[in-house]
Amino acid sequence: MLPPSRDSEDLSNSLDLLDLPGNITWKGKIAFLDRDGVINKGYDNYVNNIDEINILPHAGESIGRLRRAGFRICVVTNQSPIGRGLWTHENLWLIHEHISKLLLIEDKDSILDLILYSPYAPWEGSWARKPNPGMLEAGRQIIDHANRDDSSKLKIFYDNDWTNRPDESESIMIGDRNVDYLASQSYGVNFFKCDPNIGIYDVISSVLGDENE
Ligand SMILES: [Mg+2]
Repeated sequence: MLPPSRDSEDLSNSLDLLDLPGNITWKGKIAFLDRDGVINKGYDNYVNNIDEINILPHAGESIGRLRRAGFRICVVTNQSPIGRGLWTHENLWLIHEHISKLLLIEDKDSILDLILYSPYAPWEGSWARKPNPGMLEAGRQIIDHANRDDSSKLKIFYDNDWTNRPDESESIMIGDRNVDYLASQSYGVNFFKCDPNIGIYDVISSVLGDENE
């Protein structure tokens, strides 16, 4: 198993969850978000450094709205440049730190509760790389573990080894590509496809069910 990676942390370390806006109680909903083409603009040659980050319009506001509606946010992003030897994990963490900062400037509720990435090249065949659902499986277990304030070391299960799965009927995934759709279906969560030039704002009203407001 080639597991997902997590910014600056061992995957199974405990996660500190920040409160949802207004201290609302989390009822288990997760919004799994692809990164490029959803939060920030994607490029064929990747986002390689912080100067290449362009947050899509209203992305911060949209993520803030998701958290105000009771969703935890879990970013699930394929980042093969690491596996291809183009750059390091540490470089990606800097990029994510900067994305997080820009989102918060736009909307103070726009907190990314957990960022998971697959650092593997396609030919490595990782279960963590979309279209496989490994990042979604890990994300749910890490967030649930954090929500329980469980101090025990987390053991993450994948695929058929993970039984007793929680109800995901209220959770969603937003992505701009077919691999996102396939991962969402393999995992079992409602999918919303956005235009990569618009990003999350393209579908936020459909997700929150307030199209007519
Ligand atoms: Mg994308």
